[in-house]
Amino acid sequence: MVHEREQDCIFCRIAAGEFDTKFVYESDTVVAFNDLAPQAETHVLVIPRQHIASVAAVSREHDTLLGELVAAATSVARDRKLEESGYRLLTNPGPDAGQTVLHLHLHLLGGNSLGPLG
Ligand code: AMP
Ligand code: ZN
Repeated sequence: MVHEREQDCIFCRIAAGEFDTKFVYESDTVVAFNDLAPQAETHVLVIPRQHIASVAAVSREHDTLLGELVAAATSVARDRKLEESGYRLLTNPGPDAGQTVLHLHLHLLGGNSLGPLG
């Protein structure tokens, strides 16, 4: 399957396998890999292979893909035995939220107590 990609988007390049990134989850539409600056014992980024700038650019045409993205994240959480202890699943659209990579990604955080948000 050929995915829309954006020139010079680091996550498009990771999804295309350009950096030999180890995927902790992989399907036709979604990949997940460890964050390079982990903020918790488990810090995995779950991304669509297709370039979407952020959750703010998601529309109903992405319904299936969004379902696959969340299913991928919960699958990784299950693999890491985080279901009982719990975990955080979040995304940061836009500058006030601190988005630094303009390709939709879910942060999966867990493995230790995360404290309150903010
Ligand atoms: P955000 O601030 O929500 O846009 O999150 C971007 C995340 O991507 C940060 O947590 C970075 O540490 C992470 N990151 C940036 N480049 C890479 C990379 N090449 N491999 C893995 N994680 C990355
Ligand atoms: Zn991209």
